[in-house]
Amino acid sequence: MRLSRYYIPTLKEDPADAEVVSHKLLMRAGMIRKLTSGIYNYLPLGLRSINKVGQIVREEMNRAGALEVLLPMVQPADLWRETGRWEYYGKELLRFKDRHDRDYCLGPTHEEVITDLVRGEIKSYKQLPVNLYQIQTKFRDEIRPRFGLMRGREFIMKDAYSFDKDEAGAEKSYFDMFNAYKAAFSRIGLRFKPVQADSGAIGGDFSHEFMVLAETGEDTIASCLSCDFGANLEKAKVAAPTTAPADESTVPALEEVATPGTHTVEEVCNFLGISADKLVKTLLFVVDGKPVAGLVRGDRELNDVKLRNLAGGNEIELADEALVRKLTNAPVGFAGPAGLDPSVPVYADHELLAGTDWVAGANKGDTHVLHLALGRDCKVEQYADLRVIEPTDPCPECGGAIEFTKGIEVGHVFKLGLKYSQKMEATFLDENGKSQFMIMGCYGIGVSRIVASAIEQNFDENGCCFPPSIAPFEVCLISLGGKDQDVADKAEELYAELLKLGVDAAFDDRAERPGVKFAEADLIGYPMQLVLGGKGLKSGIIEAKDRKTGEKIELPLDTFAESFA
Ligand code: ATP
Ligand code: MG
Ligand code: MG
Ligand code: MG
Repeated sequence: MRLSRYYIPTLKEDPADAEVVSHKLLMRAGMIRKLTSGIYNYLPLGLRSINKVGQIVREEMNRAGALEVLLPMVQPADLWRETGRWEYYGKELLRFKDRHDRDYCLGPTHEEVITDLVRGEIKSYKQLPVNLYQIQTKFRDEIRPRFGLMRGREFIMKDAYSFDKDEAGAEKSYFDMFNAYKAAFSRIGLRFKPVQADSGAIGGDFSHEFMVLAETGEDTIASCLSCDFGANLEKAKVAAPTTAPADESTVPALEEVATPGTHTVEEVCNFLGISADKLVKTLLFVVDGKPVAGLVRGDRELNDVKLRNLAGGNEIELADEALVRKLTNAPVGFAGPAGLDPSVPVYADHELLAGTDWVAGANKGDTHVLHLALGRDCKVEQYADLRVIEPTDPCPECGGAIEFTKGIEVGHVFKLGLKYSQKMEATFLDENGKSQFMIMGCYGIGVSRIVASAIEQNFDENGCCFPPSIAPFEVCLISLGGKDQDVADKAEELYAELLKLGVDAAFDDRAERPGVKFAEADLIGYPMQLVLGGKGLKSGIIEAKDRKTGEKIELPLDTFAESFA
């Protein structure tokens, strides 16, 4: 690839709206351009890196036995109605109608589509297990798209879905994916850590997030310094219930409730007067020995937490205000465990909750369900703080010291169990001819987010220092020929040689000043620069510079090819 013919619109200055280094550098290196909020054009260099990430992920998926498919991005609402998510997914789901007035959405994820595909075709245990994946553009109408490719509204994801006939198989599928993720992220060259992303109550260790360790990460992770333990602090483990403050006068009056509606974590924390890392995820209340009430934190933004409890056929919408009460003062919330009646589905945000999840929304069978008042409808006797770990806590596994760091979620593996197969009746006949629900797992990787994450871990004041595995090009041959035709001719020759050797090389054959060429090569972050100038040509050498270390070595021109063979 000749830079004289390439399209790399570099920028001298950081774009005003770019807060994190990866966003700044992706823009400055001419790899992406913003179309509108959270939606980017991937330019030639950016697309090369994204495709390299995709290819590594693809190879590891294939190695693990998963099969590549490509599913539609436009999905009919009817499928989402089957699982109940049409109503409960919230505003991240972009919905629209076609000319016949039928409802559709842009796929933020594909559990419904894949379950629909598989249930129509798989009839027998002999056809299981199966794991299907795709690498595709997703759309989520994120409340706060930011940081460039890190949190886009449109972004590229690898999503895989496994279907098994029994628990042992489902567990194997899960750990096959877990290991494939480790292999892929290691090959890419990321410094990462798999962390527990789920409460013990919800399903043991069957959800892990893969975190890239970086200061700009939006997640906080607790890592043990002595063992492998790691957990996402946003996820909760049930802590021992503690007795609520006896003095109910500390419960805020209704007027203290913040405006119902959309609240960012920062706003909620300001309202509560606590720092973000102190934000309690869930409180639950025990009345007459039975837990009845709780508050649940939603995903990153609280606005999407519209909780409903369908127990007994009642649909109860939770007022958002319940989420923003003064948690520290034993708030009046209302809630019930999703599993009070296990046959009745309960949703929080877009997730179908497991039987042991705690949800806000009353489940007392009484009528005072909305604006349940303390003292009138229930009495707070106990509450349990479900937040996992305090900075001073010992490691729950080995007692070692815990360290808190920031992380970027680049992958997520999840054992879904029967959540979707039951709702959508994805069944098969087992060895005894008995109909059974398939056991599912889902596994996501943020392909475009990884390019940004890799930059967050590999940059300096001059630009990107890409790991060779995902650099747009591994080598940039820089000709300092200028008017010196001999140098230009020799550079052409070397470029042809590199291509013949199969080296992933760019060739800076432009009539630019050396300073410009060096600065751009540093900015883009080709792992190796090969520089041929007049002096070098005369003494029969070419200079090779390692972008990351800055180390320079001289290679003899007559044995040049050997260095790359
Ligand atoms: P987050 O917590 O960052 O919002 P998520 O938990 O909602 O992510 P998943 O549903 O687990 O995301 O999707 C799988 C992967 O897709 C994530 O691990 C992440 O790497 C990537 N991803 C999710 N949302 C975005 C986004 N808005 N922009 C870029 N990548 C994303
Ligand atoms: Mg999200
Ligand atoms: Mg997440
Ligand atoms: Mg996730």
